[in-house]
Amino acid sequence: MDRARPDHATTSHSLPLRKARMELDLENLGARDPLRRRVEELSGEHLADCYQCGCCTAGCPTAYQMEHGPHRVIRLLQLGAGEELLELDTPWICASCETCATRCPKGVSIAEVMDALRQIARMRGVSPPNPNARVFNDRFLGTMRRHGRVFELEVGLFYNLSSGNFFNHIAQFPALVFSGKMKPIPDRAPKKARKRMRRIMDRVAELERGGEVDQ
Ligand code: SF4
Ligand code: SF4
Repeated sequence: MDRARPDHATTSHSLPLRKARMELDLENLGARDPLRRRVEELSGEHLADCYQCGCCTAGCPTAYQMEHGPHRVIRLLQLGAGEELLELDTPWICASCETCATRCPKGVSIAEVMDALRQIARMRGVSPPNPNARVFNDRFLGTMRRHGRVFELEVGLFYNLSSGNFFNHIAQFPALVFSGKMKPIPDRAPKKARKRMRRIMDRVAELERGGEVDQ
């Protein structure tokens, strides 16, 4: 049966027909939220630029593990509703690979945003629900400190030891090394660069201890 659909434009009791139009004022909505402001300061990113196309999440290699995909992280912050992000694994799962920034038509670097969220979570003493997410982050930073560059083999082995998952992916390590995808010895940065890296990391730790990173 052909059921007639109500036509609100013509029924006498309907509201005047108006083109429904809802715009979010992203510059101002949530702009006074302290977390959004702090994330923008630390990351240097302008969150209102994001128009939610989702290209970042579509290309993110770790989005499937996140509670909120990268584009949703930005939306929550835009709306001033980002506090929950500090208690999730999401920021810690980001691998800082910058795929999102490469794909983003607006040039938003979500890696920087995730890094800002991690800094703020550390300062507040909030740990992610999965403690291994933080263990991985610490091991990653440790290798950067020692070598000035990432040394994947060390990150993997130290992560396994620290997390108690001793045999995690251990069978793949030899194949990765022999195929040249994982270096058996670190490709260290020059001494000067390593020193500079340590100075930066010490300064960040100092700021974190003094609470200057989290206001
Ligand atoms: S790709 Fe850029 S504009 Fe698109 S949703 Fe992600 S951050 Fe926003
Ligand atoms: S930087 Fe982080 S959020 Fe962006 S694509 Fe890589 S893992 Fe995903």
